[in-house]
Amino acid sequence: MAARRRAPAKRRARAARAPAGAQRPRRPTLAVWKFASCDGCQLTLLSCEDELLTLAGRVDIAYFLEASRGTVGGPYDVSLVEGSITTAHDAERIRQVRRASRFLVTIGACATAGGIQTLRNFQDVDEFTRAVYARPDYIKTLATSTPISAHVKVDFELQGCPINKAQLLEVLGAHLQGRAPQVRNHSVCVECKRRGTVCVMVARGTPCLGPVTHAGCGAICPAYDRGCYGCYGPMESPNTASLTGWWRHLGVPDAAIARAYRGINGHREPFRKAAEALGTPPEVPAGGGVSDDATAGDTDAR
Ligand code: SF4
Ligand code: SF4
Repeated sequence: MAARRRAPAKRRARAARAPAGAQRPRRPTLAVWKFASCDGCQLTLLSCEDELLTLAGRVDIAYFLEASRGTVGGPYDVSLVEGSITTAHDAERIRQVRRASRFLVTIGACATAGGIQTLRNFQDVDEFTRAVYARPDYIKTLATSTPISAHVKVDFELQGCPINKAQLLEVLGAHLQGRAPQVRNHSVCVECKRRGTVCVMVARGTPCLGPVTHAGCGAICPAYDRGCYGCYGPMESPNTASLTGWWRHLGVPDAAIARAYRGINGHREPFRKAAEALGTPPEVPAGGGVSDDATAGDTDAR
């Protein structure tokens, strides 16, 4: 009788671990959603070049219109949400996304703070639409642009405009490993010191939002002799009163300081309060002062 050949050692070890008929463990599904935004934060995911194939091997990218032709229905294990809520339709759509998502992460200034679209929050949106569109009567929009967290529960917020690739990978990696993401929330000043940049505010008297801004950009602007614009939003516990004093000391008028706070992240409370402390009018109340068709969606729907 012919002797039976033994399976190679590696295959025998695998067989001992996995019961006969067992299937490969299901990979977590990832969905990427867009609301009012420029797509820049979604592109950060595609810019992960070196890591993208590894990531694609660890998750099933089930819904990502920016990058794929096909989509798979939910529920999804992780949803990345880009963009702010600016229409009644989107206010309803984000609730559907929330229902379909186990872990929901907002990415970027639009999704975490309302984005540049929040300029409308401090003005009359009818005036904007009349200035921009030939037929403003076709425009159906809410009075305010609000972050995703104003509408549904958010599990993690990743700040930045656009977001930082390493921070995004950290958030996804942490979820895959079942731990909390470690995204440092110190100020841009720390990044300046790390790269050895001379402080543009101290050395040249250039106004800079870096002392109150969340790290993540790598302090690019100061490295090119420009003050920080606050793209990453407020850091943890920002001392805006002190920074306002510094800008006044540099001769910046209060109205200009308030405009700086009311940039991309102007809706975030520390920056909003800092601008209001300078005597600027408060935000338009959500749902107020506009001719939109369904302001009811522009409220906290949690
Ligand atoms: S946060 Fe900035 S980069 Fe991201 S979608 Fe909004 S505007 Fe674009
Ligand atoms: S340049 Fe701006 S961010 Fe850099 S250390 Fe000075 S104040 Fe801080």
